[in-house]
Amino acid sequence: MGKNILEYDICIIGGGASGLMAAITAAKTGASVLVFETNSDLAHKILATGNGRCNFTNSNINSAAYHNYNYEYVEGVFAQFGYEDTLKFFLEENVLWDKRGELYYPRSNEASTIREALVKRATDLKVEFIYERKIKSFHTTSSGFIIDQDINPVHCKSLIIATGGNASKIPGSNGDGFYYASLLGHNVISPLPALGKLIISDKSLTKVSGVRTKARVNTYVEGQLIESHEGELQFSEDGISGIVVFQASRCISRAINEGKKQWVECDFLPEYTDEEARGMLQSRLQNDKSIDALKGIVPEKLTRYIYNKSQGELEICVKIFKHMTFVPVRVDDKTAQVTTGGVDMTEIHMSSLESKIHPGLYFAGEVLDVDGICGGYNLQWAWSSGYVAGRHASER
Ligand SMILES: Cc1cc2nc3c(=O)[nH]c(=O)nc-3n(C[C@H](O)[C@H](O)[C@H](O)COP(=O)(O)OP(=O)(O)OC[C@H]3O[C@@H](n4cnc5c(N)ncnc54)[C@H](O)[C@@H]3O)c2cc1C
Repeated sequence: MGKNILEYDICIIGGGASGLMAAITAAKTGASVLVFETNSDLAHKILATGNGRCNFTNSNINSAAYHNYNYEYVEGVFAQFGYEDTLKFFLEENVLWDKRGELYYPRSNEASTIREALVKRATDLKVEFIYERKIKSFHTTSSGFIIDQDINPVHCKSLIIATGGNASKIPGSNGDGFYYASLLGHNVISPLPALGKLIISDKSLTKVSGVRTKARVNTYVEGQLIESHEGELQFSEDGISGIVVFQASRCISRAINEGKKQWVECDFLPEYTDEEARGMLQSRLQNDKSIDALKGIVPEKLTRYIYNKSQGELEICVKIFKHMTFVPVRVDDKTAQVTTGGVDMTEIHMSSLESKIHPGLYFAGEVLDVDGICGGYNLQWAWSSGYVAGRHASER
């Protein structure tokens, strides 16, 4: 006996942030929606965001916060669903928020509030879910797509790939979407880890492991200053991290992948020019070349490290305080929060996120070659792209 073909208007692969937003948007128009989720629960990753508090958007959404070769793509999507729409959406789901500077968190301070709001709305709208089932293959038909899975094949008019990336170690982040996209003829820009720790092979780092200090981190690729960020830097046994480092990690990842010369320079006295730093250090060191002359500027462990390297020599001290340089060997994919790279945006219609290769095929979220800096930008991209893909898929 042949297997029954299940019929849906829209199938979504991936029940994470962008997939759920796409499902809700489409189901609100009356479309029948089926979501495949490889985990046993939905939007697992949201629980880990913002250190469990979920920085879900930012009031200063601007294209410069996104690394994409063509900023128009991002702007076109945000014009249809921006951060204010995100706030309105969650308010309608009874989520109150707390604004810290430009960053928004749920008022409960719990990422589960965001996840539960999405899951409840999708369930209330009768979105259907299939968990823990591997998709075997797809094929396109004149009326849409057939998805082969373990039991019955599924036919849908539109298919949305919202599988996320492969950067983090959270279950489900295995890059399946890149594989599916290439099966369907799409070019995938090599996916690399970003917003993660920079691994540095320098054994002396163990001496400063655990230090947290203010710094400006300048990122150089082929001798050009590419990024510069100021904030708290953290040393660990095998590298450096902190938001200032995470922001730099995307271009370091790309440069390493392309075999380009790259390094980061840490300035521990960003409020001083080189001249001012030299003057300040000179007046301390002129009568006392012991470690005491350097105390109180940075945490003690780092002071000891700088003193051991410089022995109180003024120019060496200036160089280390202002220009400590590291050559990262890679971006740590265990701590990386997003993937940079992904489905090539030039093959996607900017206004709808529909594939230019297969009508009816859409992409949303991190699987696309769009990634933002820290600060709620990546989830906003998930909400905006999920909304746009869900809306246009349901209008077909
Ligand atoms: C530790 C951490 C902290 C972060 N903090 C923040 C933050 O505070 N603010 C912010 O803006 N961003 C943050 N991010 C980034 C943000 O979580 C992601 O950018 C966002 O979740 C991407 O949404 P997505 O829907 O594209 O992918 P995901 O949320 O990863 O969802 C993809 C879903 O698809 C499923 N899936 C994958 N393959 C298959 C398959 N073959 N079949 C079926 N299902 C599949 C996965 O299991 C997953 O549920 C953080 C990320 C991490 C790892």
